[in-house]
Amino acid sequence: MTNPNPIWFDPTLCLIGGEWRSATGGATLPLVNPSDGTALCRIARGGAADIDAAVQAAETALAGDWGRMTALERGRILTRIGQRVLERVEDLARLEAMDVGKPLTQARADAVALARYCEFYGGAADKVHGETIPYLEGYTVYTLREPHGVTGHIVPWNYPMQIIGRSVGAALAMGNACVLKPAEEACLTALAFAQIAQDAGLPAGALNVVPGLGAEAGAALSGHAGVHHISFTGSVATGALVQQAAGKNVVPVTLELGGKSPQLVFDDADLDAAMPFLVNAGIQNAGQTCSASSRILVQRGVYETVKARMAAAYGNLTVGPANEDLRLGPLISTRQKEIVEGFLAKGADLEIAGQGQIVETAPNAGAYVFPTLFADVPKEHLLARDEIFGPVQVLIPFDSEEEALEIANGTDYGLVASVWTRDGGRQMRLAKRLRAGQVFLNNYGAGGGVELPFGGTGKSGHGREKGFEALYGFSQLKTVAAHHG
Ligand code: NAD
Repeated sequence: MTNPNPIWFDPTLCLIGGEWRSATGGATLPLVNPSDGTALCRIARGGAADIDAAVQAAETALAGDWGRMTALERGRILTRIGQRVLERVEDLARLEAMDVGKPLTQARADAVALARYCEFYGGAADKVHGETIPYLEGYTVYTLREPHGVTGHIVPWNYPMQIIGRSVGAALAMGNACVLKPAEEACLTALAFAQIAQDAGLPAGALNVVPGLGAEAGAALSGHAGVHHISFTGSVATGALVQQAAGKNVVPVTLELGGKSPQLVFDDADLDAAMPFLVNAGIQNAGQTCSASSRILVQRGVYETVKARMAAAYGNLTVGPANEDLRLGPLISTRQKEIVEGFLAKGADLEIAGQGQIVETAPNAGAYVFPTLFADVPKEHLLARDEIFGPVQVLIPFDSEEEALEIANGTDYGLVASVWTRDGGRQMRLAKRLRAGQVFLNNYGAGGGVELPFGGTGKSGHGREKGFEALYGFSQLKTVAAHHG
């Protein structure tokens, strides 16, 4: 089913307590299509008063039907939402493509992933439980797993559907009531998802959506005393601000921040298997992926071969408007393009091994950059240490396993790492010693499975989302000790 009007809802509204309403004072913000720089529509510019109303609506939902609902029933609703999302994959993909600039195939994959999160957490809702604990004579002790209450979800622009699925999906499964603040650069699929969830029978107030600026709606949500847990995905600087604001209310925070994730390629690696992952993990979503693999560490014996093969692959990369469905679309905004071009300029002293092409049909006002592969990059170079958030990869040669490990662990980040080798002992050693929340052996990303716990160490953040682990994060344990003699 495809809707003739790509934006089939009123994008200028917030969803609060089951009602679609304007932000207080009717303020709005422009939304831009990054493929051509044209105005898409306007969205609500929510502020502190709207966040406050959303938190109150969430509290009301918890005190009412939503709070009393059985886990089984919550799971059924989530599963139904997942089915409705699947029916609307094309509509959602078109929205995401025009809003984020994602090539349609990638936008479609994100919509399917959103459905999958709803199915997974729908099925899991009634399978998380406490336990009994053997204790002193005359006692019976057990634990209850309970929702935090009102959960805040601050979401970035790079993968709105996937991030909403993994955080809101898990929070709803555990019986929390959510206040979602999408990114001001891309929030259409957040609104569409809320509409779909409402139509699928999610009770009023269980999910509230307040679009707006980070410094206004985002700051109001992270500092709100009525919020009991915050899930934040985005930059390190903003994550630190969110954690500080939540800290004032002693509210737990899950931070999913950036990365500088390495792939380690050893002399004995299966290069044919590795090659597509080496490039794709760096340029997917135009490199605007927290788990993008932006560092490729290669052992000297295969370094020149890997460099030549990756350079050839870069030569085949095409960049253009989202609806042309090429390998890469534009970046999210001209601001992001300036940031990435600033990094490219800092690589003026480096060898460019390969570069992709921007197609001629790409409008000048679009936020396009050339995918770029730098070679022989010193490990202390800025481009080998800082997160760029664009389609830029660096090749770094190494001699020994120990040196590879030192380079891999040598940044402030620790989100994802992968190892390409046929040596089983080396796989096991490195899986233990790499500083990362996920380690992949002879693959990268494992298809992004919703079942796989995800999160970082160091400046990549803390806490885990995805998989069953998220259900523990979105709930708290209560210990009940009964003395009965
Ligand atoms: P950001 O971290 O500023 O924004 C992410 C979300 O936080 C948005 O919803 C935003 O409105 C909100 N926000 C902003 N300021 C806030 C505040 N003071 N309080 C509460 N919420 C606030 O990211 P950005 O400005 O969109 O991008 C900047 C850089 O962040 C990028 O270049 C990239 O390096 C990084 N980034 C990382 C991820 C990721 O998935 N790890 C995602 C997006 C951006």
